[in-house]
Amino acid sequence: MNGLMQDYPLLLSTLIEHAARNHGATEVVSRDCDGVVRRSDWAGVAARARKVANLLDRLGVEEGDRVASLAWNTSDHLELYFGVPGSGRVLHTVNPRLFQEQINYVIDHGGSRFLFVDRDLLPLAIDIATKLPRIEAVIVLNAHPPHDAEVTCLDYEALLSRETDQYNWPRLNEESACTLCYTSGTTGNPKGVLYSHRSTVLHAFGALIADGMALSALDTVLLAVPLFHVNAWGVPFAAAMSGAKLVLPGPRLDGKSIYTLLRDEKVTFTLGVPTLWMGLFEYLASDVSAGELKALPLQRVLVGGSAASVDLIRKFDKILGVELIHAWGMTETSPLVTVCKPLQHHAGMSEDDLYEFRASQGRSLFGAELRIVDDRGDELPRDGVSTGDLQVRGAWIANRYFGGDEPAVDGEGWFPTGDVARISADGFMRITDRSKDVIKSGGEWISSVDLENVAVSHAGVAEAAVIGVPHPKWQERPLLLVRAAAGQVLKSEDLMAYMADRLARWWLPDDIIFVDSLPHTATGKLSKARLRDAYRYHFAACRDLSGN
Ligand code: ADP
Repeated sequence: MNGLMQDYPLLLSTLIEHAARNHGATEVVSRDCDGVVRRSDWAGVAARARKVANLLDRLGVEEGDRVASLAWNTSDHLELYFGVPGSGRVLHTVNPRLFQEQINYVIDHGGSRFLFVDRDLLPLAIDIATKLPRIEAVIVLNAHPPHDAEVTCLDYEALLSRETDQYNWPRLNEESACTLCYTSGTTGNPKGVLYSHRSTVLHAFGALIADGMALSALDTVLLAVPLFHVNAWGVPFAAAMSGAKLVLPGPRLDGKSIYTLLRDEKVTFTLGVPTLWMGLFEYLASDVSAGELKALPLQRVLVGGSAASVDLIRKFDKILGVELIHAWGMTETSPLVTVCKPLQHHAGMSEDDLYEFRASQGRSLFGAELRIVDDRGDELPRDGVSTGDLQVRGAWIANRYFGGDEPAVDGEGWFPTGDVARISADGFMRITDRSKDVIKSGGEWISSVDLENVAVSHAGVAEAAVIGVPHPKWQERPLLLVRAAAGQVLKSEDLMAYMADRLARWWLPDDIIFVDSLPHTATGKLSKARLRDAYRYHFAACRDLSGN
């Protein structure tokens, strides 16, 4: 027997209309590409989203067609977030930091006919459009387009000015596609993940809970995660749902630019990848007084995308008095799956143990399930000790890639994450490595993440990467690459001695190399693939001490 409740599809259009009706006057602040701060509100974003929908009707974009954006975090991009999917089209957000070949690949694969672009990315967009004849026009946000370009360039503002801000949003099937994001393709071509209205709205509900992001109408959120990175971790939707004030930082994410927005807009919550926060602390250490830091109203920061070190958690606590909340997810998981918030029984922990605990990735939100399996695919116990391949399934987890023939999951819906993890009896998950980053030394596994965490806890280290390098005797041995903290003179033997006090002897890196900078992927993660490539012969000449 069915229940007798209404069939009310979970749609992004209902979300933006909810924001306009209930939090219409709450601000949405945007620092544009030219550095100018523009102020609007949720009612204003909704009105312009309706104009976008009318514009797409006029351009003849069909339901289900993809529309690409190559843009930073601005209010123009935000209105596309609602106007494009709300009207039944699919917003394909493209990461401008990918390699040019990958950008061409994903835009071609996504199949868009129109490309919305920020002015500083216009040369890139024109280049793409000349190579991909399917692109009918490049639509330039917040700037006048050139008249002499090889491809049709249209003026977004001029186009919108002709449209009304009234629109009857279609009552779509909630399973219809809303947005498309590609993985960064560290192995092979990037793969497209096609989210649905239903999965996206459920993800926003999940993200909002008190043990998740705990966003409310009292919050001001600085969105330091790019809108092109996994739906900006769902925050535009969660903010519209909760009525939080939203601050969009534009292209500049250096320490100073972030700090001024945190201060001037009285931000209470922000989120982003660990490298972003390292940049912020480097700026704060040199340019901001302790008094000014204390005055910041910031309360919580969510970090994810790669592991947050104990050191980073400690810094937020000690320097800013801010709770750093560690979260885990992937493009394929919308992305939020786990969030680390201590339970009542953790209250008695020592400060150091609590930091260590908070560096774990946390428990899954309702709506997603986790498990670890061994090489044969058999489930391993949740005992906090067994280590295995992490799998996930749930209401906002991908089933299949865009354009892919094969399911991305097994027969029971489990998606293999490529991460290696432990899960405790009370559900806390700790990533010990990515399966391709684990160092296989003499038949045993060494966690590159654990080594990096110990290295960055040394005051002289700003950033560290550990990779497994082929070794004639041990199969692989760890190599540590270090970017020293500004103004610090660090000796290899001192760092090695420091690490020796904290790690098993056979885990210690065989060598330490100091570098001026470490390579990052398009989403700000350490690019270990590039490092592995560059240093693959580093131990080639090593000999077994026994002479073999
Ligand atoms: P890509 O694989 O394209 O870089 P994602 O952004 O989807 O794309 O990255 C997902 C991966 O990032 C996860 O599988 C995991 O390895 C890593 N990751 C994400 N969050 C964390 C975290 N909190 N701790 C450790 N690793 C993380």
